[in-house]
Amino acid sequence: MNLHEYQGKEILESFGVRIQRGIVAHSPKEAVAAAKQLTAETGTGWHVIKAQVHAGGRGKGGGVKLAKNLQEVEDIAGQIIGMNLITPQTSAEGKKVHQVLIAEDVYYPGESETSEFYMSVLLDRSKGRNMIMYSTEGGMDIEEVAEKTPHLIFTEEIDPATGILPFQARKIAFNLGLSGTAFKEMTKFVTSLYKAYVESDSNMFEINPVLKTSDNLIMAVDAKVSIDDNALYRRKQYAEMRDLREENPIEVEARSVGLSYVDLDGNVGCMVNGAGLAMATMDLIKMAGGEPANFLDVGGTADAKRVEEAFRIILKDPAVKAILINIFGGIVRCDRVAQGVVDAYKNMGDAIKVPIIVRLQGTNAELAKEIIDTSGLAVHSAVQFQEAADKVKEVLS
Ligand code: GDP
Ligand code: MN
Repeated sequence: MNLHEYQGKEILESFGVRIQRGIVAHSPKEAVAAAKQLTAETGTGWHVIKAQVHAGGRGKGGGVKLAKNLQEVEDIAGQIIGMNLITPQTSAEGKKVHQVLIAEDVYYPGESETSEFYMSVLLDRSKGRNMIMYSTEGGMDIEEVAEKTPHLIFTEEIDPATGILPFQARKIAFNLGLSGTAFKEMTKFVTSLYKAYVESDSNMFEINPVLKTSDNLIMAVDAKVSIDDNALYRRKQYAEMRDLREENPIEVEARSVGLSYVDLDGNVGCMVNGAGLAMATMDLIKMAGGEPANFLDVGGTADAKRVEEAFRIILKDPAVKAILINIFGGIVRCDRVAQGVVDAYKNMGDAIKVPIIVRLQGTNAELAKEIIDTSGLAVHSAVQFQEAADKVKEVLS
């Protein structure tokens, strides 16, 4: 589950990570009130207005702007709220901005130069360890740095059993070229950041830029946070941060009926029981020259009601040109699934306009095939896996 920048910063602050302070606003009027409050609390005269959407690259798309007085705060907030923000990370239509973060300007001039660093904490699955990635080349062009000069990005592996050790925090601060106050600030920053990542059950914390201010403070100016969905049951305070407006509407609906569904770019809808079989099915579709339109695991109870729900979800994606149902009947008998498919098809009337290929294997598979074949519906049955894939190819061509 992805979070907004302001929510990520709230989490960071709760773990003692220094952040660029800000207040969320939903209208130009609220923006001005927020700016006044920030000035009272932090002394800042200038403010940055930052679009809150689940996409990076906001700065490049015109979603992050500096306001030098309250009139500019009002004007810029008015421009950004309600706009369709298009960034290198959104689709061509962009993302609608519902709210902005009014933040203190932290790039003020002072005794030394400001510097922008990059830092993220993630899980390296192959090593079974967490890793901290960091670079002196932070800021809006980090993707280009990763592509053209990857040696400028360092990695520090962290053993999850010990957590980050003091020497590792010092090594990171040293590699970032820091000394004095900024060095100490950085060791504290990275230690607290790692703690925030672990204790919030996150998949990722990406802070870009991490800023060294002109008075040598280290703070998070941005925060991209993703919490592990499987941990939300025990992290209720973060689960409440979910913003459904930012998520794929078909996935939101599937979740509400308890289906495990992931929207993909292809044109073959998949309805499968079991995550492993679902992945194998997607592979097979690819090998037959098709592209899966989704991942969908209907789970153990593939009865008519569930099959119908799954049909409805799959068909919400206008790109779907065929549906492949691949169910292994172990505990659930294939003839009951077949009956479920036929009933769902009939219940849905004209809603199903694409060809359907059904492969049922396992208990009572033969009986199931007979039910499908004699139903009189435009449903193709297949017994072998490859046969099913070939039929998909046939109906698509
Ligand atoms: P992103 O483009 O979506 O990654 O959004 P960021 O939160 O990283 O902001 C984009 C850029 O805005 C940063 O890289 C900074 O250069 C700039 N920025 C952010 N905060 C401030 C600020 O307080 N003052 C000034 N002058 N620039 C800022
Ligand atoms: Mn950023």
